[in-house]
Amino acid sequence: MASLVPAPKSGYRGRLAPSPTGYLHVGHARTFWTAWLRAREAGGSLVMRMEDLDLERSKPVFAEAAMDDLHWLGIRWIEGPDKDGPYGPYVQSKRRAYYLAAWRRLLRKGRLFPCKCSRKDLEAALGAPHESALPGAPGSASHGKIEPLDDEPIYPGTCRQNLWRAPQLPGPTASSIEMPDGINWRYRVRKGEVVEFEDLNLGPQRFVAGVDFGDFVVWRKDGGPSYQLACVADDSSMRITEVVRGADLLKSTARQILLYRTMGLTPPAFYHCKLVVDHHGRRLAKRHDVLSLRSLRQRGFTPMNILGADLPVEP
Ligand SMILES: [Zn+2]
Repeated sequence: MASLVPAPKSGYRGRLAPSPTGYLHVGHARTFWTAWLRAREAGGSLVMRMEDLDLERSKPVFAEAAMDDLHWLGIRWIEGPDKDGPYGPYVQSKRRAYYLAAWRRLLRKGRLFPCKCSRKDLEAALGAPHESALPGAPGSASHGKIEPLDDEPIYPGTCRQNLWRAPQLPGPTASSIEMPDGINWRYRVRKGEVVEFEDLNLGPQRFVAGVDFGDFVVWRKDGGPSYQLACVADDSSMRITEVVRGADLLKSTARQILLYRTMGLTPPAFYHCKLVVDHHGRRLAKRHDVLSLRSLRQRGFTPMNILGADLPVEP
């Protein structure tokens, strides 16, 4: 039987990157469908990458459900956890070596510093405790990511002066002794550095480091990369040429572009989709169970019903 996925005719490489922390909802369906259409229209290929770095909340049952629901919608990919391919593994929890390499590269460039601030320290320094805006707070992740992403508050700079300097050791010894675990590592932004990019859907975007976002976490104390670092390491090593994702990640894109710049890598193109909202105008979250693809499927909705529905989006 012929494959449902034609061989790629162009170098376009897009990706689907669900987090298996819950069932996908209609908003995810829209975004992933857009990613699929753009890859197909470009005659390129689409990669499935499971973003399961939140080890506590990620569940194999949700990963299976995500792939099954997307398949049911008619979305196809040629590389992924269920297919393998030349740029695997396609599961983030198995890609630690890539993240360590990226962390080391940033460290060498002199852009990282270790940060000892606890959540309490940050709350105190920022004045008002604002649970949902702090790393690791429950409910702070809009797309089931492990950290607040675009909501990460501007870092007050407490540990900034401890800029880490590479040890003056000869040869490969230097890299083998460097391990990031046990402390948070932040990327030190240059205050006022402008990040501009042309979003293929939303048009020109402009962010200013130190104003729109501060020094951000790239490695977490508990021993894993942040979303920003993992995303850049994966998109570059998987040769992704265009990233299609929700508009809630625009500021993350600005941070990620800084990581690409520092590492001397060319960022992919970006296409951010407006977010679907509920009838109160609130962004959909995994709590909107009735709008999960799982539940809609069980109630007899078809892919056409879901993709063709006139859903409200953020302005
Ligand atoms: Zn600190």
